Amino acid sequence: MSKPERTGDLRLELMTFEDVSTALRSGFDTVVVPCGAVEQHGPHLPLCMDADHAEALANLVSRRLGRTLIAPTIRVGCSSHHLTFPGTISIRPETFEAMCSDYCASLVRHGFSRIIFFSGHIGNFPVLRDMLPRLRRSVGKSARIDAFVDSEAWLTAWREAVADAGGDPAAVGGHADIAETSLMMKIRPDSVRTDRFEPGHIGLLSPDQLDLMWKNGISSVTRNGIIGDPRGSTVAIGESCLERIAGLLVDAFKA
Ligand SMILES: [Zn+2]
Repeated sequence: MSKPERTGDLRLELMTFEDVSTALRSGFDTVVVPCGAVEQHGPHLPLCMDADHAEALANLVSRRLGRTLIAPTIRVGCSSHHLTFPGTISIRPETFEAMCSDYCASLVRHGFSRIIFFSGHIGNFPVLRDMLPRLRRSVGKSARIDAFVDSEAWLTAWREAVADAGGDPAAVGGHADIAETSLMMKIRPDSVRTDRFEPGHIGLLSPDQLDLMWKNGISSVTRNGIIGDPRGSTVAIGESCLERIAGLLVDAFKA
């Protein structure tokens, strides 16, 4: 039996039940739940981009929050607007909510008193925002449930992080762009098809274009599935983005 701080691994699924019991007794009262997506990310990134990103963030966030374990990643998310691209797997909002609710029920039963959701896939944000009051009601006073759902703050942090590391903030569009591509060059470098970088939709999406995207799918605003531009991506930009978003999440969850 070993304490998680001794093994250095905070991932619940790699621990034994005795490890978890020891962690709970020594004050590990919080669990982060990384949420992702398995969806198209342009011609140059693998479908697992957002799930991998969420896991990398969970590793940093849990250590910085302290006394925090990491739940198994909910790798597939709400990606119906990406289904026109082959390979994308999408779960319905009610499926996602049922999973989050069942995670909460299980974790609360073991005695964790704080459960934190965040997502590497911005498309999950509105779904998390919508379900949060119901998740909170479902556990009552036995635990505090939080979720990070501020997509504007996320995109602003990416623009700042890209600029800080010498990249062009105008290349940030939020999907398979300079931020996500650089992140993947850091997290899973072999998966990035560096010979297939090409610009996608550039510039902010108008309310009409956003409407069109939610209604008819992302291919109605971008032919290649990219929003933003992956050109100019570097590992240094990836490190900067990872660090900046981890800081954003930790600040939000410490508040
Ligand atoms: Zn993504």
